[in-house]
Amino acid sequence: MSARPYGETPFACPDCSALSVDGHLTHIDTCPLGRTSDEQMADDRDWFNAHPEAGRRRRRPYWAELAELRMLGLLPTDGEVHGHVVVIRGPGDGLRYRRFDQLRWQGRP
Ligand SMILES: [Zn+2]
Repeated sequence: MSARPYGETPFACPDCSALSVDGHLTHIDTCPLGRTSDEQMADDRDWFNAHPEAGRRRRRPYWAELAELRMLGLLPTDGEVHGHVVVIRGPGDGLRYRRFDQLRWQGRP
């Protein structure tokens, strides 16, 4: 399971309870959030490999990406989320950046 940089405030994964160390979180191998994050990164990599002329990809967010935002306190834990993720091909080999595009949350009364 790959480690991901998030930020400096310590936090725990809501699925596997792994604790962040120096802003990086390494999920246990069976963690659903970690596994889906790996699948999402592989999906983006495969898409860019299939579209070598493309500099960016616009897609719906994976549930794990929304869970990461909730884990960091950047998104409420309930309600519906609308919007897209823009994945940008970076300057280095295999580097990609994600940007949440017009991501909005709609709560329930
Ligand atoms: Zn986890």
